[in-house]
Amino acid sequence: MIRYQVRPLHPGTHLFQVHLRVARPEPGGQSLSLPAWIPGSYKIRDYARHVVRLEARSSDGPLHPVKQDKQTWRLPACSGPLEIEYVVYAWDLSVRGAHCDQRHAYFNGPALLLRPHGRDHLPCTIEIQRPAQPAARDWQVATSLAPEAVDGDGFGRYRAEDYADLIDHPVEMGRLDRVRFAVRGVPHFITVNGRHHGDLDRLARDLAAICEAEADLFGELPLDRYGFLIQVTGEDYGGLEHRDSCSLICARHELPRPGLEAPDEAYRRLLGLCAHEYFHLWHVKRIRPLAFQRGGLEAEVHTRLLWVFEGITSYYDDLMLVRSGRITARAYLDLLAHTLTRVWRGSGRFKQSLAESGFDAWTRFYQQDENAPNAIVSYYAKGALVALALDLHLRLRAGTDLDRIMRTLWERHGRTGEGLPEEGFERLTAEVAGIDLSDFFAHYVHGTADPPLEELLAAFGVALHLRPRKDAKDQGGAMDAFAPAEVPPWLGLDHDGASPPRVTRVYDGGPAQSAGIAPGDRLLALDGVEIRAAMLPEMLQAIPGPRRLHLFRGDELLELEVTPAEPPADTCELRLEEGDPAACARRREWLRES
Ligand SMILES: [Zn+2]
Repeated sequence: MIRYQVRPLHPGTHLFQVHLRVARPEPGGQSLSLPAWIPGSYKIRDYARHVVRLEARSSDGPLHPVKQDKQTWRLPACSGPLEIEYVVYAWDLSVRGAHCDQRHAYFNGPALLLRPHGRDHLPCTIEIQRPAQPAARDWQVATSLAPEAVDGDGFGRYRAEDYADLIDHPVEMGRLDRVRFAVRGVPHFITVNGRHHGDLDRLARDLAAICEAEADLFGELPLDRYGFLIQVTGEDYGGLEHRDSCSLICARHELPRPGLEAPDEAYRRLLGLCAHEYFHLWHVKRIRPLAFQRGGLEAEVHTRLLWVFEGITSYYDDLMLVRSGRITARAYLDLLAHTLTRVWRGSGRFKQSLAESGFDAWTRFYQQDENAPNAIVSYYAKGALVALALDLHLRLRAGTDLDRIMRTLWERHGRTGEGLPEEGFERLTAEVAGIDLSDFFAHYVHGTADPPLEELLAAFGVALHLRPRKDAKDQGGAMDAFAPAEVPPWLGLDHDGASPPRVTRVYDGGPAQSAGIAPGDRLLALDGVEIRAAMLPEMLQAIPGPRRLHLFRGDELLELEVTPAEPPADTCELRLEEGDPAACARRREWLRES
């Protein structure tokens, strides 16, 4: 048995103290390590760098830990039990790390809990201890760990089957707002930490409907409890999936305000995030790439299947909002139009395939620089579009759909725990559909072609139309009463909105690139007149033809000639078409429109 005790120390120090007891250490000496990365976030994070002190002792006396590499400590052979005490710095307010102060304490297992090598298959317990500070008297604990002996606030002992199970349940402590609901008889909870005025009962009602729709899709809800752990801040956004819970961070205005009727854009985003992480409880936490089952958490593990796990999940996260009746079909098409616009604006999609995007996630998608739109494609966004194309293609040509593929995937790889091999998804889909899909995958997954969405959507009563962007904020979607004549000329760059504007990105083939403008340049004057960010569209519109531009690159002044051009038609809008009854019937079935 492995025993952990975790306690936040004085809030000003942002430290967790952890005590680990290994009853019977490895006979030749015990190694201990923290993961270098966590599934769901394909970047080397090196959690061990936050360990600030580590001491060990056995019944023979103190032991001297020797560092083996960046994340592993080794202790000499000793007779058990082995007691290790260490302190971890926790000042990363994200779903992936650990964070503690006088308001709350949060940790994601890999950030805090050492793995005892060779003993990680053993069952463990973890005792969550209340911090000593007076303000923590009314704190509560939120976690999906199985409670063994806990008080009314949730402090006390929890158990886990093994180390892998232990680190898959994040823990939140603080003054938490809490709501509960049930899905298929399984208790679910939502906790919110941070200042807010959100209507949590409304959130619970909406999530119950979304979770129900997802459980219906897979036909099974394979757990005893589930928790949404939400941290609210002014402007953050992100989520991390776990087997029986998810950690979310969102902006407070994304929570539904009391009295809100149809979800606004901000609340839709939060519902989409919740729908996404919940979908992962089946798809990536239980149906898993074989590569992840074989690889450890010490170094990068590569798979070409991230588009299957993240792209398909991204397709369903918005789709579930309409299928569960939370948003209208029209609102759904706007969300889809945003995704299309995001993908269509990057020429990187012609240089990197979806399969490569996932394989190289470690050094490219998760380490994006200013050239990202010209060089890479997102396995989330393009993955969602290919999932959509696959779903519509299967409905039209094979009399089946992606739901059926997902259920089969669940039966063969989720329920059984048998990892999905690299070619497994394509093979299974072709087999279930009974048609040859090799061209489809060759073009849109392993090649760089755009999926034929205009044609596919038309067969489902949805018209796809591309137009130039109206302004810098235009993300696509329906634009009522919009006249193309209003479109200001375009430079083919993004800037930070400051004055003078600092260039953040330069797009392939645009006027800025032709003129030699580079990321980092500060744009000073156009035809001798100072550039203010807010006025730039009007300044560009004022005079046609080549313009004289002054800029700073580093500390050197450059003068260039730039010719603003008409913006490309890279902004997508989708409209419901009611003319063709067969197409409308297909759409109703696809979106479950009533
Ligand atoms: Zn995801």
